[in-house]
Amino acid sequence: MKMDKCSFCGREKKEVNLLIAGMEGHICDNCVEQAHAIVDEEFKKDTGFTTKGLQLMKPLEIKKFLDQYVIGQDQAKKILSVAVYNHYKRLNQPVSADETEIEKSNILLVGETGTGKTLLARTIAKMLHVPFTIVDATVLTEAGYVGEDIESLLTRLLQAADYNVDAAERGIVFIDELDKIARKGDNPSITRDVSGEGVQQGLLKLLEGAVVNVPPQGGRKHPEQKMIAVNTKNILFICGGAFDGIEKKIAHRLNTKIVGYGAQKSADHLDRDNMMQYVSPQDLKSFGLIPEIIGRIPVLTYLEPLDRKALRSILTEPRNSLVKQYIKLFQLDDIELSFDEDALEFIVDKALEFNLGARGLRAICENIMVDAMFDTPSANVNKMKISLEYAQERIDIASSVRLKAS
Ligand code: ADP
Repeated sequence: MKMDKCSFCGREKKEVNLLIAGMEGHICDNCVEQAHAIVDEEFKKDTGFTTKGLQLMKPLEIKKFLDQYVIGQDQAKKILSVAVYNHYKRLNQPVSADETEIEKSNILLVGETGTGKTLLARTIAKMLHVPFTIVDATVLTEAGYVGEDIESLLTRLLQAADYNVDAAERGIVFIDELDKIARKGDNPSITRDVSGEGVQQGLLKLLEGAVVNVPPQGGRKHPEQKMIAVNTKNILFICGGAFDGIEKKIAHRLNTKIVGYGAQKSADHLDRDNMMQYVSPQDLKSFGLIPEIIGRIPVLTYLEPLDRKALRSILTEPRNSLVKQYIKLFQLDDIELSFDEDALEFIVDKALEFNLGARGLRAICENIMVDAMFDTPSANVNKMKISLEYAQERIDIASSVRLKAS
């Protein structure tokens, strides 16, 4: 009689613990295990994300890392470094019942557009090798309204993590334009406020930590998709917003406080050109954030407006500064690109004129560089110098085109 054998390793029934019969063959318990290990290995995609035991830098080192990419903003960097250090220290710590549990420290960065809020959050994620996503608070709406459900921000994080839930649960979500979901006016309205307070309410549980069922494809277009449970307890939320007009609320608070003996003296100490540095949770409340949201974003800091010196540094100093990027692009075509100092100063002047923070630098550089990038790869040149005259001429042409178009 034919003996049953494992079709994979050839062992007979008596040599193994278990032999499972298939349509035309058998498999032993040993081979099942080996096959399982192979499947596991194949499917465990290496996304490069840290999921366990993050190698954490100390706050000082985190700040040094940020310094390589972000110019100035020392105070914000310091506060961010400490918050991130504490957050991930808490994650690396096994929680025991009797121990004090460290709460997570979501962060709010207040500052004008183009001052580096997103850049700071992105750089932190890069340093930590954790998944990172940016969501605009203005697209979020309460469930049932047109727009994106609040859970969609976790869909994006999952996608950034290549659907590795472990990694996503240690990721960073940057919520931009948080100021845009502020309640309009200081009085809670009885009517439903679709874009503002409802969204703030919806964000609460995410910020605090909850298990949320996330549609992996996002949206409501795929009702059949199987939800993925994501715990937000360890996700770090960094929020940003310009909070236009908050200076007035800050000034109002400080002025009403500074009365009586010594008032003049303390008022004199105020740096009136940069009131943002005095921002406090109270001002956020006056601006229209609900106290529950403010309580769940305990770390608050500000970014300074970028002055001429900062803008000039941003052009050339960060590790992937604009100028370094253009030089690299030309280098790939074997062209040595250089910028005259006065051309760089001119770019800064224009950026200040447009008042778009560092964001303006990119648009101005693109206008100056576009013809050079178009022509030089086909021309027989190995050097290209951007002089002041060249930069001025390009910008004049670009503005006249824009004038004609308008
Ligand atoms: P926002 O504060 O509006 O989030 P971003 O961080 O998106 O501004 O900045 C826009 C661009 O400007 C970034 O891509 C970056 O290149 C540049 N930038 C802004 N602030 C700084 C800064 N402090 N240091 C270096 N680059 C900066």
